[in-house]
Amino acid sequence: MADRIEVETCLQQLLQPQAFKDYGPNGLQVEGRRQVRRIVSGVTASLAFIDAAIADGADTLLVHHGLFWRGQDGRLTGWLRERVARLMANDINLFAFHLPLDAHAELGNNAQLGLRLGLRADARFGDQDLGFIGSAPAALAGAEALRDAAAAALGRAPLLLPGDGRPLRRIAWCTGGAQGFFEDAVAAGADAFVTGEVSEPQAHLARETGVAFLACGHHATERYGAPAVAEWVAQRCGLQHRFIEIDNPA
Ligand SMILES: [Zn+2]
Repeated sequence: MADRIEVETCLQQLLQPQAFKDYGPNGLQVEGRRQVRRIVSGVTASLAFIDAAIADGADTLLVHHGLFWRGQDGRLTGWLRERVARLMANDINLFAFHLPLDAHAELGNNAQLGLRLGLRADARFGDQDLGFIGSAPAALAGAEALRDAAAAALGRAPLLLPGDGRPLRRIAWCTGGAQGFFEDAVAAGADAFVTGEVSEPQAHLARETGVAFLACGHHATERYGAPAVAEWVAQRCGLQHRFIEIDNPA
């Protein structure tokens, strides 16, 4: 049991959202009850996730993709109304952290994906230093080996653009929709770049630069940061915690 404000302070100190320029508000997005005991983490505050968390007895949610993004016009209609209404009717707190949750050096999406792939960053690159890069372990010295390791760790088949088949010495990665970081990864010295999504230009860039590109799924690469952070805050504040996975093939 904890005061929601104590939980909020812990999260802000851990993730330092004021240090980021982001696409939506980080922190408490919907205010619910003040006394909290059960936090449920997930990737996205979808209706399915909110309903599953309510059924699980949550009073507080922590997600990577919250409800409010730049470009929305502010109206609570349609699907957004349904999600907000469900939270408010059940007096539930919604915490959302986007880029600060990608970037955290130990608990963030990038660090946690790296752990599962056997990668450790020794440098950062790209906008707001969101990209991670490190030396390839011997077991991941080829693009096919990296693809197979990602498939085993994430439970789905990544799309591999193989580059020129060079041995991998440096591997860069950034979770989610970071395909736009590919050129920065190449400039940072990567022999391969791992992210969630792919767009049309990356196929040509992989051929022309010789650097391998792996798209492993936006959701699949971002499943690990929110539960790591929620578990950390649950330990500190004396809360129960559970991660709820709502599958998303994208
Ligand atoms: Zn994302």
